[in-house]
Amino acid sequence: MNFWEDPWVPNIQGFIPKPRQLPVISFGMVNSLKRSNGDWDDVRLNALFDHESVQKIQEMFWAKSNQEDKIIWSKTRNGTFNVKTAYMAQEADHHKEQNWWKILWKSKLHERTKFFLWKLANHGRPVSSNLSNRGMSVIHNECVYGCNCSEDEIHVFFLCEVDRWMAGFLPIHEDDKENFLFFSAITLEYLWKIRNTSYHTVETPNLQQIAVLIHKNVNEMIDATKRDARASRSPEESNGHNHLSWRKPLAGFIKLNSDAMMRSNGCFIAIIARNEEGKVLSIHSFKSRVSIPEVAKLEAVAKAMHVAQFHGWTKVIFETDA
Ligand SMILES: [Zn+2]
Repeated sequence: MNFWEDPWVPNIQGFIPKPRQLPVISFGMVNSLKRSNGDWDDVRLNALFDHESVQKIQEMFWAKSNQEDKIIWSKTRNGTFNVKTAYMAQEADHHKEQNWWKILWKSKLHERTKFFLWKLANHGRPVSSNLSNRGMSVIHNECVYGCNCSEDEIHVFFLCEVDRWMAGFLPIHEDDKENFLFFSAITLEYLWKIRNTSYHTVETPNLQQIAVLIHKNVNEMIDATKRDARASRSPEESNGHNHLSWRKPLAGFIKLNSDAMMRSNGCFIAIIARNEEGKVLSIHSFKSRVSIPEVAKLEAVAKAMHVAQFHGWTKVIFETDA
């Protein structure tokens, strides 16, 4: 058993221990964690895994003699299955899920978008895989964009080339936490819309234009939410600035925000240009082979400069986070 890949430690999430530090430099089998007398090699355990994992490993029962294997239920102390612990384990998962739905229903998203997400989460969208799972005959089960993949939800919304393009505009910063739900929900909804257009017509979706629309939609929502929040606050408080939110440039200037998202084989650069009113003038995206985050951020700024030059903008402000 490989100690990084095979699930082997009961009572921790996923059954795989967490490394003490990254990158992981030592690999091996579970047996290599034991000393010749059969005890755990504590020094090695502590060097490899985080505190919690080490604790759980040390708690593991290990047969001294060659006893026969048997199946045990890890949720009880004695390893025997009972309904109560099974129910409790299930309730815990259920509870997490319940909380998520509460967040969704309470959010300011349009009812239509909430319903869309709910349907999506319950396999209710007629993508090929859902149709054939329901026993319907599907003539074409490939992705409508011709990428030679079979069409299931994960492909349509997360793995397709089209998504990679769109995902470049998702706010994945710490500062954007609040807006992430808005962005992701609205982006998913648009992805579904263009998938349907491609399914029913021969039109090729204009991704650039759709990205602008998504931004417009989301910005309108964010503005509306801010207005609501301001209205419910006292006047003194509402004079304070929010340092984390995007600010409009000075009159006559164009602000270009650039960012780089790291991917497994390089990075994805996105640039958005807005005028003094906050109106989106253009959105550009580039793929790059750069794999160092700091360098990618710099490359994004350089690309933003090219964009400004390309449009002939002279009064520009470049903004990025570092
Ligand atoms: Zn595809």
